[in-house]
Amino acid sequence: MKKHTLPSIGLILAIVGLLLSITACNDIETTVSFNEEEKAAYALVIHGGAGTILKANMTPEQEAAYLKTLNEALDIGEEMLKNGSSSLDAIEKVILFMENSPLFNAGKGAVFNHAGKNELDASIMDGKTQNAGAVGGVQTVKNPILAARAVMEKSDHVLLTGAGADEFAKEQGLAVVTPDYFYTQRRWDALQKVLKKGNPTGQAASEEDDYKFGTVGAVALDADGNIAAGTSTGGMTNKRYNRVGDSPIIGAGTYANNNTCGISATGHGEFFIRYAVAYDISAMIEYKEISLKQAAKTVINKLKEKGGTGGVIGLDKYGNVAMPFNTAGMYRGYTKPGERKVAIYQQ
Ligand code: ASP
Repeated sequence: MKKHTLPSIGLILAIVGLLLSITACNDIETTVSFNEEEKAAYALVIHGGAGTILKANMTPEQEAAYLKTLNEALDIGEEMLKNGSSSLDAIEKVILFMENSPLFNAGKGAVFNHAGKNELDASIMDGKTQNAGAVGGVQTVKNPILAARAVMEKSDHVLLTGAGADEFAKEQGLAVVTPDYFYTQRRWDALQKVLKKGNPTGQAASEEDDYKFGTVGAVALDADGNIAAGTSTGGMTNKRYNRVGDSPIIGAGTYANNNTCGISATGHGEFFIRYAVAYDISAMIEYKEISLKQAAKTVINKLKEKGGTGGVIGLDKYGNVAMPFNTAGMYRGYTKPGERKVAIYQQ
């Protein structure tokens, strides 16, 4: 009996050894091809929100206005990156530009909460240092992305909320406005429509209400290989009780790590928080050594299975771009040397 057992153990060990060497080879291969990929001189990817954005519901003029503004936002960031600006400076300017456009649900044009007020959330993250800053529920800061950056650079904290965040922004000398600055008829009408339908639970409007998200976000890779990501939003129409979404939550709506990727999300924030969407994509790249495209797609598909609508934009350390979403549309675009794309609907 003993004689028979020994060769079998030897055989098992040999098979295990062979399997281990095959796995090791795969690891080496993956790592080598990963490192050999060429880095783009710069790359920039943006979104202007995802949701029930259907061609049938858009006039040609509206469509043209969105595409034009997305292109202008890309122009601003690309010009800066080409001239050696940091990814942080570039995304800050791009988001600021989009906040100032009434087309998007961020800054001017933000959606209204249940009380008919605008409460704004924003965040920014530096992939080099992994420092981050965010504000939640501000009501008087003209450009919340600037407040998020000030939190990152001028405070010991990551997230400031409510009146305190407004006060901090003012102390930092940022532009302050009266709440009526954020008013747009279109967003006001959207709130009235939701209120008319009656929403006793105070839940944010769902896709069935033809609710269109409209958050803005940008991610950039600069000449030094630094990645930065940022997101800014008015949140969700009819939100209540000082609700804060995913946009100012680092790891949910925004994330950046020079070794993996930068991500900005848009969609039903509660799901993005619960599934730590932005960090999950980065972690998949870090631990599983899969591509950004695969990681982002996996997470957005998983989100859909769980009932969470929305999408993300992201880029990796080489400047590869991904823009997956599980809704009818997402305002989006990217630019890098020799390449530019802007789009709205599924294609
Ligand atoms: N994610 C945002 C929030 O839940 C909404 C959006 O992306 O439009 O606050």
